[in-house]
Amino acid sequence: MAITILVILCAALIAWWLYGDQWLARYYKRRERPLTAGQRRQLARDMPLYARLPSPMREKLEGLMMAFLSRVDFVGCEGLRVNSRMRLLVAAQACLLLLGRDEPAYPNVHTLYLYPEGYINAAPQRLAGGVIDPNGRHLAGESWHDGRVVLSWNDCLYSAAYPFDGTNLVIHEFAHQLDQAKGSATGAPLQGSLPQAKRWQAVFQAAFDRHCLAVARGEHGLIDPYGATNPAEFFAVVSEVFFERGLELAEAEPQMYEMLSAFYGLDTRHWA
Ligand SMILES: [Zn+2]
Repeated sequence: MAITILVILCAALIAWWLYGDQWLARYYKRRERPLTAGQRRQLARDMPLYARLPSPMREKLEGLMMAFLSRVDFVGCEGLRVNSRMRLLVAAQACLLLLGRDEPAYPNVHTLYLYPEGYINAAPQRLAGGVIDPNGRHLAGESWHDGRVVLSWNDCLYSAAYPFDGTNLVIHEFAHQLDQAKGSATGAPLQGSLPQAKRWQAVFQAAFDRHCLAVARGEHGLIDPYGATNPAEFFAVVSEVFFERGLELAEAEPQMYEMLSAFYGLDTRHWA
């Protein structure tokens, strides 16, 4: 009896490993509901990039958004009452990262905490040298590998309203989610062959080193200095630039642009 149960469990695990992604994608697709005309108008006002997307891309984005919204719980913090406009604008920006990828909308993400604006992380932070800062840090967002994402609504609005300034909080945090799909964030989200992984590592490490050097010299370029924090932050920061200033990134860092373009399945050079 015990052996039979074990065999069934093993078969179920193998089937999930082989077909889990497809089953999830089909399951979420069944739950999709189209946006209303009013929601589309509001989204186009809040997010000019949504209105500029070609029709097939906009349709795909809406499908991803509905799948995302059908199972992610939004929790308002510090008295914020989460409404439909907030849910849609967060979902639209988060799902931009999946437009060229063939996968369900962040199956790992289950709860999104929304603050009215920047907030102070309540948990004491360990600073450089092991010093504990009991006051926490001022933050605009966080991404956790256990499927929680925290965002400042004010920054979500600003990010959507200025799609070509090279910064976007939602893209940043959800790039971390893609990176964290395999566990902790490392700045190497590519789950390809060994040669592909090695090439990613070589190209991104070289670009990260150049960026750190430029930041140390006090030079302010296309990539935000925050990207020099570590390789995981570098990936999130250059993802923002990829979606918002693709042409400039392609000119400044052609190899890295090419790798990001392959990873996201998009060519963003002419989006701006
Ligand atoms: Zn980050």
